Amino acid sequence: MSSYMNMNFHTHTVYCDGKNTPAELVEEAIAKGFTALGFSGHAYTPMDLRYCMSEKGTEEYREEIFRLKDAYKGQIDIYCGLEMDYFSETDTNGYDFLIGSVHYLYKDGEYHSIDGGVSYFEHLFSLYKGDGYALAEDYYRLLGEVVDKTKADIVGHFDLVEKFNKDSRYFSASHPRYERASLDALSVLLKTGCIFEINTGALSRGYSALYPSKALVCKMAEAGARLILSSDCHQKENLDFAFSSVKELPYFPAIEGCLLTSSPFPTKK
Ligand SMILES: [Zn+2]
Ligand SMILES: [Zn+2]
Repeated sequence: MSSYMNMNFHTHTVYCDGKNTPAELVEEAIAKGFTALGFSGHAYTPMDLRYCMSEKGTEEYREEIFRLKDAYKGQIDIYCGLEMDYFSETDTNGYDFLIGSVHYLYKDGEYHSIDGGVSYFEHLFSLYKGDGYALAEDYYRLLGEVVDKTKADIVGHFDLVEKFNKDSRYFSASHPRYERASLDALSVLLKTGCIFEINTGALSRGYSALYPSKALVCKMAEAGARLILSSDCHQKENLDFAFSSVKELPYFPAIEGCLLTSSPFPTKK
């Protein structure tokens, strides 16, 4: 049955920093009763090769996903996508969909990871001389451009900059500077007609929050944006991580009508 819970378009494999092969993930998706599965390997980012697909690996990934598409025809719809970083350099022709994400800030002549670990984030924070709002403003400036830059269909983990911000350690999300920066990015992105994801990935990795925050996702829904539930899956057990808990959110009635219940993408041959 098609439902917002029976699909995931944010899935990583062994071709990037995921733990499972595409075939293992397809089997898992079928076992969970999914109707659709989208793969979103991390697109090549030359300045950080730790987590992304290599150039050669990208070709192999594409071949393998297209092979599975055929092999599982009639059982599950498989989509071959990429998670583009703002700074990715990859030919995006021939993919079914793209996610656009900001994982780095370029500061003082270097790229700095936003979500790679607390120590990286601390270092970045120190480059901003402790001004977490200036950091968040730079993040949202890039995010506002991410669809234009990457041609993404879906915006990934909208407020990723909050990942390590437990107890508002670096900034407060209700501060006027943070609100202005995030809402400015949102208003630019809303005009593109892009899809926004409700991403449970941070929950599955032991962080407390869903992306986006309640305040932001409610604004998206108010504006009539399309929302898609995704797990940012890096291991098959988490393919639908916390999907069933989303309906328990107190603000679920406000967003339910915007949640996609079937694939918004055509499957290319
Ligand atoms: Zn990401
Ligand atoms: Zn991802």
